Amino acid sequence: MPLPPELTDAVARFAAHREVLVATDFDGALAPLVLDPMSARPVEGAMETLTALSDLPGTTVALVSGRALEPLRELSGADDPIVLVGSHGVESSARPDGLVLTDEQRGLLDHLEEALDRLSEDYPGVRVERKPAGRVVHTRGLSRPLGEEALEAAEALGELHTSLVVTPGKEVVELAVAHVGKGAALVGLARELGADAVLYAGDDVTDEDGFAALADDPDTERAARHLSVRVGDGQTRARFRVADEHELVELFRALLEARAGAVT
Ligand SMILES: [Mg+2]
Repeated sequence: MPLPPELTDAVARFAAHREVLVATDFDGALAPLVLDPMSARPVEGAMETLTALSDLPGTTVALVSGRALEPLRELSGADDPIVLVGSHGVESSARPDGLVLTDEQRGLLDHLEEALDRLSEDYPGVRVERKPAGRVVHTRGLSRPLGEEALEAAEALGELHTSLVVTPGKEVVELAVAHVGKGAALVGLARELGADAVLYAGDDVTDEDGFAALADDPDTERAARHLSVRVGDGQTRARFRVADEHELVELFRALLEARAGAVT
């Protein structure tokens, strides 16, 4: 189905800016939602079109997902120069160490690491799993009173800092530094690139964070240049809507054509 004329016009205007960031969610935007999350695959033409876009001058393409970075890379098949942003903005392939954390969050993670080293010495047998923005303490295998004590000690580490998020579980406690969110990730990436305009497409509540960040850009002239697209139904702050993954690919094809004409 052809795109509505207002959207075609908006895509043409967007394509004419000097430096642009074209970002999209993965599941439900490029890849249909499926029962087994590891069997999700982009619809036909999606990655080819995005790869061709990413090869154009002044054009950065990014996939922004709640998934961890590595499965996102594997399932999308995306390769450089496409930027991969995973874990709702916590991980980024554009960062040398793969992480989008503030200096404060990095400092907090180091602090947590030291505290967990001490905890592991106090409670031999405790295992510490490293995640991009946190640590998970596992006590499975420890004798009962010792395991429980270790869990309590790990939970108490949540008091190290108010922005530590503590999630207790069965013989496990997760301690994470603050959540980044798709909006903050998008704004951060756009700033690093010096993007004049950002396009963001997505299908879910976490993508609304991205749409809101674009709509609320304090530079109001730049805010007017951003293009936000909700995929499928549901209440949204996005300026435009497409029906499904296939229609989003149609939009990217129209953008590729217009952008190729504008920059080459
Ligand atoms: Mg999604």
